[in-house]
Amino acid sequence: MKSSWLDIVGNIEPLDGIDLDSRIVADLQQRRAGMSAESAARINFYTPTFKAYATSELAGCGKSAWPAVSITGGECKLACDHCKAKILEPMIPARTPEALWRVVNEQITGGAQGMLLTGGSNLRDEVEYDAFYPTIRRIKDAFPAFKIAMHTALVDRDIAQRMEASGVDAAMMDVIGAQDTVAQVYHLKRSVEDFERSLEHLTQTALKVVPHIVIGLHYGRMLGEWNALEMVKRHRPDALVLVVVMPFYAPAARPFVTPNAHQVGRFFMDAREMLPDLPLLLGCARPPGRAKMQIDAYAVMAGLNGIAHPADGMVELAARLEREVRVTPACCSIALGDEVLALGEDQGIAIDVQRIIEKERARARAPDARLSGIKVVTI
Ligand code: SF4
Repeated sequence: MKSSWLDIVGNIEPLDGIDLDSRIVADLQQRRAGMSAESAARINFYTPTFKAYATSELAGCGKSAWPAVSITGGECKLACDHCKAKILEPMIPARTPEALWRVVNEQITGGAQGMLLTGGSNLRDEVEYDAFYPTIRRIKDAFPAFKIAMHTALVDRDIAQRMEASGVDAAMMDVIGAQDTVAQVYHLKRSVEDFERSLEHLTQTALKVVPHIVIGLHYGRMLGEWNALEMVKRHRPDALVLVVVMPFYAPAARPFVTPNAHQVGRFFMDAREMLPDLPLLLGCARPPGRAKMQIDAYAVMAGLNGIAHPADGMVELAARLEREVRVTPACCSIALGDEVLALGEDQGIAIDVQRIIEKERARARAPDARLSGIKVVTI
């Protein structure tokens, strides 16, 4: 008889004391049994923590390999309640096409392989890239191997086609499924249908399209997430990135609660079931501490395909659940795009899973723990 997943979790030292909902775990185990063998077989962890254990040449931290560049510097007219434009502040500013050309040349000299190109939005949640398309084309013509992942925000057909013609490699946009969230959190007079139409326009181009769903975007509560899944399902992008809201900058008058980790787990389960063939990636934004441990454990059990910066114990959990474990030793890769651009290629680095598990256990002060019975897959 197969062990229950809750018992398996109970035997993983770093997960000692983790609070998981037994009904959700049993449900996840049952649904997994009904899935095809390929679906959710492989999981890739993205973290610089495993660097010392990799056996081949490694990429540096995603931040220098994948800089984030903002065409508006730190400015954004929308000032959404969860962000207040703070996400833009640490990015490299390139406010003019000339500055963008210069920045890209400097970054390539410094070893960058690509960039996330973004900027603050206007009041219609559009990033005004118009003046930059010829420069983007020039960059792609001069450095075809340099990848550009663009945060598109909302687009019409014409803008989507201009993005495609400029040579951008991947298009990323947040998909919001609740009108109240659009109006209240984003202060935006656009409709949920505008988000879906934007996704539709992007998927009708040759761009790799990777929508994001921000879980808990409605002040920490879940509202439009399932509708957003339906929207994604209707338009078949290349992958879906899930992140959990981290509203560090929320104004005191409009506070966010920490999203309920069990609800997040249920959402992962539903996402996997609704989109069985789509790569599902958990980006690095999520609440820290115990909530992160719970969220990550649910993500592994639900069959997500990639997790950035996993909590301790996740490699062992994945191995014990007989998932094929791969590691990409870089940070921020999901958020900044290199994972997305590598989709479909044979990515991931050969690692000794058992050594990583030992390291995790050492961190959890359990140096004598035995590791027998774990199926270790190296690539
Ligand atoms: S539009 Fe983007 S950058 Fe501007 S405040 Fe909202 S989330 Fe932040």
